[in-house]
Amino acid sequence: MSLAKTYGMRGIELVRGSGALVYDLEGNEYVDCTAGVGVVLLGHAHPELTRAISEQTQRLVTCYGIFDNDVRNEFARRFEAVTPGNLNTFFLSNSGSESVECALKLVRRYTGRTEVVAMSRAFHGRTLGALSAIWKPAYRKAFEPLVPGFSHVKYGDSEGLRNVVSESTAAVIVEPVQGEAGVVLPPEGYLQEVREICNESGALLIFDEVQSFGRTGNYFAAQTFGVTPDIACVAKGVAGGVPMGVTASTEEIFSALGVGEHGSTFGGNPLSCAAGIATLNVLQSENLIERGAEMGQRLLAGLRKIENESIREVRGIGAMVALEARFPCGGALKSCMENGVLVLASGRNVMRFLPPLVISEEQVDTVIEVVRSSLNANSTA
Ligand SMILES: *Cc1c(COP(=O)(O)O)cnc(C)c1O
Repeated sequence: MSLAKTYGMRGIELVRGSGALVYDLEGNEYVDCTAGVGVVLLGHAHPELTRAISEQTQRLVTCYGIFDNDVRNEFARRFEAVTPGNLNTFFLSNSGSESVECALKLVRRYTGRTEVVAMSRAFHGRTLGALSAIWKPAYRKAFEPLVPGFSHVKYGDSEGLRNVVSESTAAVIVEPVQGEAGVVLPPEGYLQEVREICNESGALLIFDEVQSFGRTGNYFAAQTFGVTPDIACVAKGVAGGVPMGVTASTEEIFSALGVGEHGSTFGGNPLSCAAGIATLNVLQSENLIERGAEMGQRLLAGLRKIENESIREVRGIGAMVALEARFPCGGALKSCMENGVLVLASGRNVMRFLPPLVISEEQVDTVIEVVRSSLNANSTA
């Protein structure tokens, strides 16, 4: 067997999940604060999602975009009801990177400009266009030359942005909450200022909500912060774990893309769309967006109470939480795993928690306790 060695392997083999729990080959149980990088908003194997997927496989799995499809149209109607502003037109794809690629092509076509301003520590995906927008030299450097026209300014610094955005700027792309950077929150008023700077220069504003979708106490962080972008990119949790990307914009902006100028073989397939509808249904019927945010706040408060000198900061919003240590936390992540809690890393020093929104209070408390003991066991070494 041979798989490309592009992932830092954790050394366990996961075979099954239920709610906020996953199980490895040996039957060990873990509280899953990775959720597949924040993907399974409804938890693993949610019965309603499982049923929707299973039923759709018996009707129609694939349907190329040249044909209309009942489930795809229904997803679009349902999604429109939760999007901010008049972002009522969607291009459907299969991943976050693809949702960003579509946005990058769209802004060129609509504005006739080619420059894009992105942020320090931004993450937008691994395809060459998205990679050009991300910041981390370790991800980019080896793949240059990338797509021309991208520049980066400091996230959170609106004056810096104002100095760079001009009449040649097609778009500013920003994660309203920076996920991969370690759950970095926008300073007060920052996103409003970014919106104004775009308005003044005619640049479009792209919010990359691939990670924040459903996690900030609203469907979109745009709603949480009261700022509406021209384009929103969504993926990760939107279909509850089934691959799906959505690029959402206005009808007017999307009218700039003509027939044949963009497309996707799998994008908008009925299987993903059925999963997307079930996900939206359950988010609403189980009040999960609010509940997940409450669980995130419980986690945040619990982590803040841990007394350990190695903690630099605990921060978060809704169900996006991070603990930044003063030292590399690989050892603590490993002890967490050995004690039944899976946590993501952001860089070397940050533990990141993106739990399923169905996580229970008891499970949150277990996470807090295991993180406490893992930090204590590793910080003195
Ligand atoms: C994960 C992520 C992406 C890339 O998504 P893929 O599905 O891995 O292509 C893009 N933007 C943000 C903000 C992300 O968190």
